[in-house]
Amino acid sequence: MRWSIVPRMLAGLVVCLCLVPLSAHESQVVERISLRAARLFDGTSMHRNMVVEVADGRIVFVGARDGAVTHDLGDVTIMPGMIDVHTHIDWHFGTDGRYGNRPDGPRETPEQRETAIAANLRATLLAGFTTIQNLGNRGDGALRDAVAAGTLLGPRIVSSLGQLSPRDRTPDQLREAVRASKAAGADVIKTFASGSIRDGGTLNVTQEQLDAICSEARAQGLRAVVHAHDPDSIAAAVKAGCDQIEHGVFADDRAIALMKDANVFFDPNIGLVLQNYVENKAKFLGAGNYTDEGFAFMERAIPTLGPIFKKALDAGLRMPLGTDAVAGAHGQNAREAVARVNAGQFPIGALISATSLAAESLGLKTSLGRLAPGYLADIIAVSGDPSQDIAMLRSVTFVMAQGRVVSQ
Ligand SMILES: [Zn+2]
Repeated sequence: MRWSIVPRMLAGLVVCLCLVPLSAHESQVVERISLRAARLFDGTSMHRNMVVEVADGRIVFVGARDGAVTHDLGDVTIMPGMIDVHTHIDWHFGTDGRYGNRPDGPRETPEQRETAIAANLRATLLAGFTTIQNLGNRGDGALRDAVAAGTLLGPRIVSSLGQLSPRDRTPDQLREAVRASKAAGADVIKTFASGSIRDGGTLNVTQEQLDAICSEARAQGLRAVVHAHDPDSIAAAVKAGCDQIEHGVFADDRAIALMKDANVFFDPNIGLVLQNYVENKAKFLGAGNYTDEGFAFMERAIPTLGPIFKKALDAGLRMPLGTDAVAGAHGQNAREAVARVNAGQFPIGALISATSLAAESLGLKTSLGRLAPGYLADIIAVSGDPSQDIAMLRSVTFVMAQGRVVSQ
C-alpha cells in the first residue's frame, strides 16, 4: 500500500491534509492548474497579485505566492464564475429567425432544437456564467446531466424541470404537483402569483394556492421561486413563505417592505430581458401574448426598473443576479450587472450579487460563488478591474468550469 499526504474534502467544505491510502485513481499524478493575475475578486472583496490553484475540480489554494504557475493571466481580474439565477436557456429563435411555433412557420426538428440550446449554453458559459438556474424547461434533466458529465459544454444547471401554474388547481392538487416535481429530480419549484407583464402582471392566484405550493416545497426540502409583478402578488408570495420573488416590475414601497421583513431574495430583472424583447421585437411579435399591447406594457416598464431596483437596494433587500434571459439574450447576461450599477449600486455589490450572493440564493453557498479552498473550480477572468468598471464583466478572457479550462 502506498500512502500520501493529499488534500481531502470533508463534507464538501473543508480541506484537511490527511494521511490516506492512494487509490488507483489518486496514484496517478493529479493535474494541478495554477492561475496568477494582477487582481482577484474572491466573491466578497478584491485582492492584488494572487494565485489560485486547482486540483481535481476543486480550489486547493488561494493566496499570494512566488514561483511558477501554469497560467499567468497578467493584467486581468480572476473571479468566481458568475451565476444567473433566472434563465430560459431553452428559448431560441427558429430557423426562420422568429420566436415560437407559428402555424405558418417552419416545423422544428428535435436536432434543430438541440443545436439551438447547445449554442445558448455555450454562449452563456463563454460569457463567464458557469452556473444558471433555469426556470421552466421540462427537458432540463438531460441537459443538466450532460453538462455535469462533461459531454455538453455549458454552465452547470440548477433546474425546476418545468413550472407549476396554479390556474384552477386545488391546494391538494398543487401539493401533489410539488411532490411530483421533487420525485422527477427538480432542484427548485418555479411558480406564478401574477400574470405576465404583457397581460398587466396582476395577482391571479389565491393565497391558499400559494400557501400549498410554497409550504409543500419547504416540506420537500426545495426552494420555491415565484413570478410576481404587482404588489398584491408579491405580498401573497411573501405571506406564503416562498423563498424568492422574481421580476417585481410593479413593486412599491409596501411590497419592498414586506420582502425586507421576510428576508426573502428578490430578483428584479432590470437590465436584459425587457430590453432584449424590444431590441428583437420583430422576431417575437405575433407569438402568444407578444402583441403590440404586450410590447407597450414592456416599453413603459423599462424606465421604471432602475428606480425600483434602487429603492429595493436602499431598503437592504438581498438581490442575487438574475436576468430572465430568453431568446436573443443568452451570453449577454452581464448586462444585468451593468444596469444595476447604472441604477446606483456600487460595482462591488453587483459583483457580489453575481457570485457569492447568487450562490447563497441557490442554497449552494458552501460550494459555489467564492474563490476559497474547497470550493468547486468554476473560475473566470475578465479584463481590467470590474470593481472600478462593471462593464469589464462583458470582457471575459478566461473560463474554467468544473476544473477544466474551456476558454483562454
Ligand atoms: Zn422567466
